[in-house]
Amino acid sequence: MLRVTVWNENLHEKEMPEVAKIYPQGIHGAVAQAVGALDGVVTRTATMDMPEHGLTQEVLDQTDVLFWWAHCGHGQVSDEVAERVAQNVLNGMGLVVLHSAHKSKPFLKLVGTSGSLKWREIGEKERIWTVDPSHPIAQGLDEHFELPHEEMYGEPFGIPQPDELVFLSWFAGGEVFRSGCCFRRGMGRIFYFRPGHETFPTYYDPNVIRVLQNAARWAAPLKRVDGFPCPQVEPLEQV
Ligand code: ZN
Repeated sequence: MLRVTVWNENLHEKEMPEVAKIYPQGIHGAVAQAVGALDGVVTRTATMDMPEHGLTQEVLDQTDVLFWWAHCGHGQVSDEVAERVAQNVLNGMGLVVLHSAHKSKPFLKLVGTSGSLKWREIGEKERIWTVDPSHPIAQGLDEHFELPHEEMYGEPFGIPQPDELVFLSWFAGGEVFRSGCCFRRGMGRIFYFRPGHETFPTYYDPNVIRVLQNAARWAAPLKRVDGFPCPQVEPLEQV
């Protein structure tokens, strides 16, 4: 079984009725339902208000892939938990970073850059192009698909060059954005996926659901370790 934990700061859902109406079980609930619909996947959710944000080492030990949605609460995430998540990714746990989590502590720790971008919230059309059709995360998707209303994110996006670029977005207002980016850090695989603004029903879109499911499978650890020792060793041959 692939064990997926979906983490959400869960703030907009409590403070904005229009968001609670779209996501009555929270964004984490919708993402967990989408990924959990896949055979062989078990999901759990965790939110910021839980002790240790619901991400104790015990939970992470039982997590193959962690999904992370956050927006206005990045600064409320404890440094200790952010560091724990980053270390577990280096040790092999998969991480799927959603939408406004481009500024989340674990993601920035792992990529080491600003995560900055341009944005505009007028509900314009987004066309998402599959630029690497042979990539595992693109399987089952057409050459492009559209979301009728989304927030715009525009380049330049403050990330290192992705190890693999799977999706590129175009917006009705004219901007483009690297929407599906793969990174490898240590033993871990990280996928950043752009769509998912809280006031639009993006996580119910069948193409988006397919991406989330493919990403869960792709990010699953092939090998997991417990830290990276730096041992002094004896030669294998007589020297
Ligand atoms: Zn947003």
